[in-house]
Amino acid sequence: MTLAHPHKKAKALKSSSRRPAKELCSECGLCDTYYIHYVKDACAFLNQQIAALEETVHGRSRDLENQDDWYFGVSQDMMAARKKEPIPGAQWTGIVSAIAIEMLNRGMVEGVVCVQNSEDDRFQPKPVIARTPEDILAARVNKPTLSPNLSILEEIEQSGMKRLLAIGVGCQIQALRAVEQQLGLEKLYVLGTPCTDNVTRAGLQKFLDTTSRSPDTVVYYEFMQDFKVHFKHEDGSTELVPFFGLKTNELKDVFAPSCLSCFDYVNSLSDLVVGYMGAPFGWQWIVVRNDRGQEMLDLVQDQIETQPVMSQGDRKNAVQQSIPAYDKGVTLPMWAAKLMGVVIEKIGPKGLEYARFSIDSHFTRNYLYVKRNYPEKLEQHVPDYAKRIVGQYKLPD
Ligand code: FAD
Repeated sequence: MTLAHPHKKAKALKSSSRRPAKELCSECGLCDTYYIHYVKDACAFLNQQIAALEETVHGRSRDLENQDDWYFGVSQDMMAARKKEPIPGAQWTGIVSAIAIEMLNRGMVEGVVCVQNSEDDRFQPKPVIARTPEDILAARVNKPTLSPNLSILEEIEQSGMKRLLAIGVGCQIQALRAVEQQLGLEKLYVLGTPCTDNVTRAGLQKFLDTTSRSPDTVVYYEFMQDFKVHFKHEDGSTELVPFFGLKTNELKDVFAPSCLSCFDYVNSLSDLVVGYMGAPFGWQWIVVRNDRGQEMLDLVQDQIETQPVMSQGDRKNAVQQSIPAYDKGVTLPMWAAKLMGVVIEKIGPKGLEYARFSIDSHFTRNYLYVKRNYPEKLEQHVPDYAKRIVGQYKLPD
């Protein structure tokens, strides 16, 4: 007789129930399943344990003497890459979708955890286990909203699948790693994206309404390396809004509290990370964290072109000046924002230095947020690498 796993006795929470992490919940989906049994240990916002999990997953945690480790996490290779033939409708060139398709086609995995959108709302996330390339393509492009990807965990166990690829953002992946041993899998591959400033569906509407000239026709947006938000509309047109022209005072409370207290921008616990912010404009940024990540990247070598990562400029002054400006909710008039955008695009940080700029700006903001709203959590919740990053700047009280 086999004994039932203890978690099977646990009951998923109703969708309307208050979550264990309360307002810090990032809706990763764990609590929608009987794996809620492990929530106190697994939740990224109740029990930050990145260093310990890095040790388990990558064989070592970040080296705190190495600044690249502070910023980008454990890695064995890094590069800029783009698909020679981009996948139409993907967020960037579709490297994430291409890797997932190869893994399914070659039988390396039986299913892929990813997130499609609901039929009537392109931004409403619908997590699925994809079993065909068509399912994966239907999940391409960011759903810029909190997404309960882990809500399919029970389905994985019930399906009897043994080899799985999970695609997800940092908070989902931290919880997944914490319960990995309980899933009954023989092999789990994890393909992550960086993630920041996510929002609830209602928060997204406020962001679109406040920032875009035509909120209802936006199909895609990204905060890009040229210091502008790029909105792509249904008719194919692109709308550019400079970061410095965003209505900071109105948007301050739009981001989810979980994202305002997140220090895992670069998805520390994935085998392979595919983003954009450490790469030149138009290219994607790839961080290989371990051999499994390299194995995944090798599958698409013939579909991509690559170049070494580069770094240019000095971010430190720009970050230091932006800290009190953000804190006070300063918004520049549009002409000044555009001018500042032009200047900073010419002389501002590029490549890895742009990634450091973005990480520094978010970590200083988030450190202040946690310090002011959850002072009792500050010490345990902020990882040591993030404390070092924040320690480079002078912060207001
Ligand atoms: P595609 O081939 O289009 O595939 C995208 C994949 O992302 C799909 O498989 C889908 O399942 C998954 N996905 C979509 N939405 C979500 C979601 N909400 N939660 C979990 N998984 C999801 N990169 C940076 O370098 N800097 C950033 O600041 C940054 N912010 C991001 C914020 C969010 C909310 C998200 C979801 C991603 C962010 N990224 C960021 C990653 C980047 O935008 C691209 O997703 C990445 O480069 C992959 O592009 P692609 O064309 O290869 O992806």
